[in-house]
Amino acid sequence: MTANTIARDYLKTGSFPGLPDGHFIDGRTTPPSPKKMESFDPGRAEAFAEFSLGETSDMDRAIASAEKAAARWRQVSPGERCTILNNVARLFRENADRLSVIEVIDSGKTLAEAQGDVQSSARLFEFYAGAADKLDGRSVNLGPDHTAFTVREPVGVTGHIIPWNYPTSTFARGVAPALAAGCSVVAKPAETTPFTALIMAELLCEAGVPEGLVNVVTGLGSDIGAQLARDPRIKQLTFTGSVSTGINVAQMAAPNVTRLTLELGGKSPLIAFEDADPEKVADGSYWAIFSNSGQICSAGSRLILHKAIRDDVLAILAERAKSIRPGHGLSSPDMGAINSDLHLSRIKAHVEAAKARGANLLTGGDVTVDADTGKGWFFQPTVIADLGPDDPAVQDEIFGPVLSVQNFETEEEAVRLANGTEFGLVASVYTRDVGRAMRVANAMDCGQVSVNDYWAGGLELPFGGNKKSGYGREKGWEGLDAYTKVKSITISNAS
Ligand code: NAD
Repeated sequence: MTANTIARDYLKTGSFPGLPDGHFIDGRTTPPSPKKMESFDPGRAEAFAEFSLGETSDMDRAIASAEKAAARWRQVSPGERCTILNNVARLFRENADRLSVIEVIDSGKTLAEAQGDVQSSARLFEFYAGAADKLDGRSVNLGPDHTAFTVREPVGVTGHIIPWNYPTSTFARGVAPALAAGCSVVAKPAETTPFTALIMAELLCEAGVPEGLVNVVTGLGSDIGAQLARDPRIKQLTFTGSVSTGINVAQMAAPNVTRLTLELGGKSPLIAFEDADPEKVADGSYWAIFSNSGQICSAGSRLILHKAIRDDVLAILAERAKSIRPGHGLSSPDMGAINSDLHLSRIKAHVEAAKARGANLLTGGDVTVDADTGKGWFFQPTVIADLGPDDPAVQDEIFGPVLSVQNFETEEEAVRLANGTEFGLVASVYTRDVGRAMRVANAMDCGQVSVNDYWAGGLELPFGGNKKSGYGREKGWEGLDAYTKVKSITISNAS
């Protein structure tokens, strides 16, 4: 069945038959837990399925199963790991239509966005399949008396706490390098997006991943998520989500000295100088803030504009933002829904507070619904201009389709404004002056910078933040570092 046929059936019935309602532990789907929670379709604001609320015993079994499987997997040859991970990528592609539609219904994003996420999940498995047999060490020269070299070993059982904005690709970007490195996995998806991780775990087993190597337990973060963070059997914890939960997770993991990768979001700037083309700037900014309804850790949520091009850029951008048609992700809208009513109310509160402070609102500013159905959790594409550096709309991560605009006159001022938040995930600079582009790129306190583009690059490049955006890098070759530990070995050459 194609994505359109699957989507048509769902839109007719409001239900999706065959969704897993247990956990995935030790290579199989468990019977459902006694306690369940409803999963909502954000595009309709209606429940469409239930999933299991995991208990302590479920998480405990999942970790025990991963521990047993890790000991076996590290003995599997790199070549065989490579073959299995390539099989995973193939199966993701074969199941892309079903996975994409489920992702739309669970997360609220558009079908095109979900299809992109599934394809990049497959690519992540291909990329790390290619790395599995290239995890070499180094030979080190200690002089004639010794032979010395390093080896990279798997860290063991890894825990993955997944957010709701990119459920498939965040799962893949942690699980693929973990498996390539020889580790096992226990994953906990977010409460509002439980299904794709369960289905991906089934596909991993079908592709040849041994039983117990990848386990998924669904349920509450404050409950089984915290249990995962505290368990001493977890040797690496990969967390993506809010700063406050990330700090909490780090504190819970600290007594065991568990290794951590934290990806905690941002307030990323797009800086445009006076020599930049206003059309290109408006285009880049539009894409950077309204993709995935702004629910992206690396969204370009701040536009820092030279005063000379301020009016031109904002005229184009506000016009384009006004023309956006939000709607259910399966109805080919320009922009999808907000993931939950709770998150919609957070976005609304941020914007209401800005309005109460007298913000210069160029467009948007309120919740809305799908115009065809009168339903759903949506927020109007919003642009707030002329903000000062300390304004909460500039400082706080709103995580929605809300663009905060600041103005500047000098390069030094642009750099100061861009670095002037507690975050440091990505930045972008638009200018035709190569020297200035490089000076600004070097001055940015963040993990990645694009020049005359936003989000250039892909899974081949490392990704991660500075400051309160977190630490550690995912994707690229560096994405393997979290899942391997280096051992140095020396041999005496004495006769
Ligand atoms: P959150 O950080 O609370 O949730 C992220 C994940 O952490 C979920 O899987 C959740 O179940 C789990 N979790 C929650 N409490 C936990 C705990 N005590 N121990 C272990 N795991 C726990 O995020 P949220 O409440 O869903 O969203 C709040 C804000 O977080 C958003 O407004 C946004 O600013 C930010 N956010 C950022 C990202 C990102 O990509 N960096 C993703 C989602 C949300």
